[in-house]
Amino acid sequence: MVGREVVKEGVVAIKDDKISYVGKKSKAPRIKAEKIIDGHGKVAMPGLVNCHTHLAMTLFRGIVEDQPLEKWLKEAIWPLEAKLKPKDVYYGALLGCLEMIKGGTTTFADMYFYEDHVAKAVEKAGLRAVLAQGILEAGVPSRGEKMLQDSVNFARKYEGYADGRVTVQLGPHTLYTCSLDLLDKVRQKASDLNVGIHIHLAESEETVKQTKMKHGLSEVELLEKIGFLGSDVLAAHCIHLTEKEMQLLAKHNVKVSYNPVANMKLAQGTAKIKDLLDLGVTVGVGTDGPASNNNLDMFQSMKVAALLQKQYYNDPTVLPAQTVRSMATIDGAKALGLEKNVGSLEVGKKADVILLDFKKPHLTPVHDFYANMIYSASGSDVDTVIVDGKVLMEDRNVKTLDEEEIMLKAQKTATNITKSKIPIFKFIKDQT
Ligand SMILES: [Zn+2]
Repeated sequence: MVGREVVKEGVVAIKDDKISYVGKKSKAPRIKAEKIIDGHGKVAMPGLVNCHTHLAMTLFRGIVEDQPLEKWLKEAIWPLEAKLKPKDVYYGALLGCLEMIKGGTTTFADMYFYEDHVAKAVEKAGLRAVLAQGILEAGVPSRGEKMLQDSVNFARKYEGYADGRVTVQLGPHTLYTCSLDLLDKVRQKASDLNVGIHIHLAESEETVKQTKMKHGLSEVELLEKIGFLGSDVLAAHCIHLTEKEMQLLAKHNVKVSYNPVANMKLAQGTAKIKDLLDLGVTVGVGTDGPASNNNLDMFQSMKVAALLQKQYYNDPTVLPAQTVRSMATIDGAKALGLEKNVGSLEVGKKADVILLDFKKPHLTPVHDFYANMIYSASGSDVDTVIVDGKVLMEDRNVKTLDEEEIMLKAQKTATNITKSKIPIFKFIKDQT
């Protein structure tokens, strides 16, 4: 597929890390290729861009279910995260990388702790990522300062890591876990370093109300007041926004990550994506962490992304398949500041290409490629994944990672952290 145009009998040629030709086979230059991948019955498309996740949370997949956000975070996830060691994050991130390769995601934006270990997992896996070391002040200014410094140190060290496949952002967690003073410093540091900012915004109705009561302004208004907003800000969720706040996001060209599966699972409400798109806001799609999704399958997230908006607006024409596909590719790339290099199949861009196997009962017949891709396909239909011109998976065999070993290590790591589920559930019960 080129742009939104479907090319039948097409060829994608790759030289080194870039696309050197894309289009009709009949018009392709004669090239003596080192390697030829047979694409019969398959659809080549840009690798998917996951705009918001916390990769190492694969370790907490399925550990605490069906709880409200605040309780889930404070009573289950944060106590578990306090036990995490750098090595644990590495194995959790490797598992996440493996899952993403198998599901056709080639680029992702991550915010977590021990992000240097996520960077190492990305390097080994061969993926592309925008990484942010998380900053969570939680009422202790000295902790906030320390975490900001760590986030800055990470950004300085890892920009351009893994042959340029890793870029960086600063990662303040939210407005309710970071003070305005700290957020002001984050903004200044990001501008000094010329890197972006990844933050959760307007996810929980409760905390949005608390911010309004405390400051007399809504979250976006507050951020505008301190000069925080800009085209380098990636705001995850953006559910509880007023019309004025949406206009402010558009005015400052803030990028939005829409994470429909996690939002539905935690019953946080529905982001008004149609309104944001109508205002010209760039919106990408994210899975959020695997503990609140519970997977990293962008095909599943694309389908839910479309369905939820149709349901919310009571209008089946909202968010058609082609729009959602763009959100998960080129718009996601824009949201991460990578659109010059990835997000579409174009000559001169990085060769981040996936092949979808359409020879499947649930993808037959083909009347409309986009319809099958968004409404019928899943991550397990991805056959081949190429990033930076390197084949990471072919015929569903991952070349860069040992699947068995990673699953085993991740299982052991997860078991060690949690030991058993009982103390966590007991912890929740004791608090209620
Ligand atoms: Zn998140």
